[in-house]
Amino acid sequence: MTTITEPRGAATTVDGSIPTIPAGSPLLLLGRRADPASERGVLCPGDLPSPSDPGLPERARRARTALGDRVVVLGHHYQRDEVIRFADATGDSFKLAQFAAEAEAPHIVFCGVHFMAESASILARPDQTVILPDLAAGCSMADMAQHGQLVDAWARLERAGVATATVPLTYMNSTAAIKAFCGERGGAICTSSNAPRAMRWAFDQVRADAVAGVAPKVLFLPDQHLGRNTAVLSLGLRLDDCVVYDPWKPDGGLSDDELRAASVVLWKGHCSVHARFMPGMVTAIREELPGVEVMVHPECRYEVVREADRVGSTGQIIRWVEAAPAGARIAIATELNLVKRLAAEHPDKEVVFLDDTVCFCATMNRIDLPHLVWVLESLVAGEAVNEVRVADDVRHWSRIALERMLSLPGDDTSLVA
Ligand code: SF4
Repeated sequence: MTTITEPRGAATTVDGSIPTIPAGSPLLLLGRRADPASERGVLCPGDLPSPSDPGLPERARRARTALGDRVVVLGHHYQRDEVIRFADATGDSFKLAQFAAEAEAPHIVFCGVHFMAESASILARPDQTVILPDLAAGCSMADMAQHGQLVDAWARLERAGVATATVPLTYMNSTAAIKAFCGERGGAICTSSNAPRAMRWAFDQVRADAVAGVAPKVLFLPDQHLGRNTAVLSLGLRLDDCVVYDPWKPDGGLSDDELRAASVVLWKGHCSVHARFMPGMVTAIREELPGVEVMVHPECRYEVVREADRVGSTGQIIRWVEAAPAGARIAIATELNLVKRLAAEHPDKEVVFLDDTVCFCATMNRIDLPHLVWVLESLVAGEAVNEVRVADDVRHWSRIALERMLSLPGDDTSLVA
């Protein structure tokens, strides 16, 4: 189950072949090599318009108008302003999955990252195409959990005699193959807006006849921080109830006893954007801006979340900022494009970024206006480029896992109970 997608146009060599390397290698140069188990290293081969073309917004508008209801453009909150202004619907990954499941248009242009386009493809009708403007817009967190590593991890749980007492739960930010693995084993998917409900649901699914003397457990991947924050701050578990499984260590770095005692087995993965925020930044901003309210995303470290005033998904953060009174001081720990947009949309409030250095999501930022114009104009010309399509066997079980998620209520008011 390694062929996840069928990208049209991938990294090529001079002889036109795609050089591949074993999955899991840490660094890849864009366009030089490709990882068969992920989108890493993929080159966009298109005839892209120049970024300096001042006519790009007009070209995007013209193409969008020409396509009419044959296309729907979905935009994640972390997208650039130049892109998001062309989105028909915006949202976090949960909302965008709902939009994709309900979309009527034959083409869905997904302005987000690869795992989101995969989810849209899984939920879309087979006759719909899902297009990712730049196939190299991946997610470093999703790449931290490879399908083969999860197969090994599950075998490790079986050897420790705890697999039958475990339900796998994966964050939306994971590959379709990981989602399918969870779906096939009775598990589901969650987003940052429904993680507490999903984790409670997962514990409820642990078989009543699970092994005697073994704590019921959830294997949560790939984001250890979201998993820990949810387990401790929302479900009331202790930090000691969580252990971290490291896929790069023998046996995951855990003894049988540690696995048997744990309630939550956290995968050793993280978001390279949100993990940058540190507790000292919260202290510093409170000194700098007296009365400031600190809002953080649950992908931040537990030590940061514990210091914050509010913890919530991007959708929740947006609503909190909208509801804040004029003059409010708000410091936000999430992706910088969104924070800058919120600051511009609420000039009557002081909205600042928690970090003092630039913190964009590099892969989200790969979707820019030239790529959007290219895919839209290609559609006008009758060609769907950069299609993301999930292989049928992966699609079946990942769709079941996604549908389990969509049947759970979203939008918890806060991660903190
Ligand atoms: S912000 Fe983090 S989790 Fe989201 S796409 Fe970027 S790297 Fe992945």
